[in-house]
Amino acid sequence: MSFTNYLANIRNSVVSIFEGMAVTFSWMLRRPHTVQYPDKVDKGHELIKEGFRGILEVDVSLCTGCLACQRTCPIGVILVEVSKGTERYITRFDIDAAKCMYCGLCTEACPTNAIRHTKEFAYSVDDIRKLVLHYIKEPVKPYKPVKDATPDNFNAGRFVSEIVKNREKEYVEYEAPSVKIPDGGQTEKEKN
Ligand code: SF4
Ligand code: SF4
Repeated sequence: MSFTNYLANIRNSVVSIFEGMAVTFSWMLRRPHTVQYPDKVDKGHELIKEGFRGILEVDVSLCTGCLACQRTCPIGVILVEVSKGTERYITRFDIDAAKCMYCGLCTEACPTNAIRHTKEFAYSVDDIRKLVLHYIKEPVKPYKPVKDATPDNFNAGRFVSEIVKNREKEYVEYEAPSVKIPDGGQTEKEKN
């Protein structure tokens, strides 16, 4: 290698380092697109766009007990139980957030917006059973829809925050509904 090439290589290296560092330093003066997670979770929620499909919540006061969400869910994540008799009561409304694939089909099937996605995305736990969320503590009367009415208290995120907060303390054994498999196949339960 000639001495001229040697000097050219040194010059190229210095220029290359300078260009790289110029890009790096320029970002020190710009507003970051990221947030310090998990120290600034609230800021993270602000950055999430509308339409994000986070953990599901259920406003039981708007639930008619129609079971449309349970029937629509393709993987048997929702379990709703409604008592029979002259007075109907919703006695159970559970969602297994660990199994949910966040497709949103259940929210589209719901006639009253009672079940909806929130922006909640952080719900890791030390025991997977704690991801079965129970939305009913005691029997509630189903909501009677009024024609053309829209829920005036819709505020996604209101209920799930309380449930997520309490999930470490409250959970019971959960038995998910059997998944129907086409072509006469066995359900998950029958296989076990
Ligand atoms: S989001 Fe999809 S997978 Fe999750 S409960 Fe609803 S329908 Fe089922
Ligand atoms: S959440 Fe909606 S779809 Fe599911 S049972 Fe209640 S009213 Fe019906």
